[in-house]
Amino acid sequence: MCTSHVSRRGLFRGAGVAALTASVAGSAAADPKPLSGPGVTLRWLGVAGWELIMNGRRVLFDPYLSRMEYRLPGSSAIDERAPLATRPALVDRTITEAPELIMVSHGHWDHSADVPHLLTRFPGARVVCGRGTSFLLEACGVPRKRMIVVRGGENLEFGGLSVQAVPSLHSMTGDHAYLLPGELTDRPRRPRTLGELVEGETFAFQVSFGTSREVLLFGATNYAERELAGLTPDVLVASMTSWKPIHAYPSRLIRALGSPPLTVASHHDDMLTPLDSPDLPATVNTAGPAAFRAEVAAAGLVTKVHEPTHLKPFVV
Ligand SMILES: [Zn+2]
Ligand SMILES: [Zn+2]
Repeated sequence: MCTSHVSRRGLFRGAGVAALTASVAGSAAADPKPLSGPGVTLRWLGVAGWELIMNGRRVLFDPYLSRMEYRLPGSSAIDERAPLATRPALVDRTITEAPELIMVSHGHWDHSADVPHLLTRFPGARVVCGRGTSFLLEACGVPRKRMIVVRGGENLEFGGLSVQAVPSLHSMTGDHAYLLPGELTDRPRRPRTLGELVEGETFAFQVSFGTSREVLLFGATNYAERELAGLTPDVLVASMTSWKPIHAYPSRLIRALGSPPLTVASHHDDMLTPLDSPDLPATVNTAGPAAFRAEVAAAGLVTKVHEPTHLKPFVV
């Protein structure tokens, strides 16, 4: 991995939290781009969830803390009839500071189920999501005025915080099918099962706090390559569930984004084990990031792939 440029440019500057360190030398020719501006603190909430903090400002992406049982008994397949039994106490234990925005990549339970509770708990927060997800949230009691409904392509300004909505795609099953793919054109009945939280549309979001580094977050393991044209994030948060049905997932992504200096692995735990369980580290799929690293290197591209620890803040 080429990381010498990382320390030279001060990519990982930490203040009060662990900062990533660079170690291995690389060639200047492989530098993806110059970096400037201060770093952002990231905290992995498990599954595809993230907290981003800078200068006291805070946003959430796909926060899902309930980690509900989702499998058919004796199987790893999704039980669409599993009850939507969220665990607000678990959410409150982990999310203690008010976010100003909550971005939701798509409607599935492991991305959206805890958002209604968070919006109730933090009355100053608003949610940024697509149309289908907005109908689901509305069915869960979220008022329309709390939502910013995007179509994709928007670059929203919040006075020193910008959020760009990037049209994206969901991951696929081994036989190239979408999971719980429903689209909504109106508010459904209040969801009672996991299966009622359908995908809707999937978006990625690129976040920047004023002059800070740009962080592009994906909630699912796919993307629409042409929609990434012109995006050159400093930090890529990449979903790393299986990408077997997707052609050259890592290398096309890194190339399309101009080789971001840092890629952070996401959506690579078991979605079930409690966050305070001593077994949690063993649930993280390390093969995904390893394969991502290998495929990127084999394509002659450069990005440092970081594997985060649950709930441990780090500066990028
Ligand atoms: Zn999903
Ligand atoms: Zn997911």
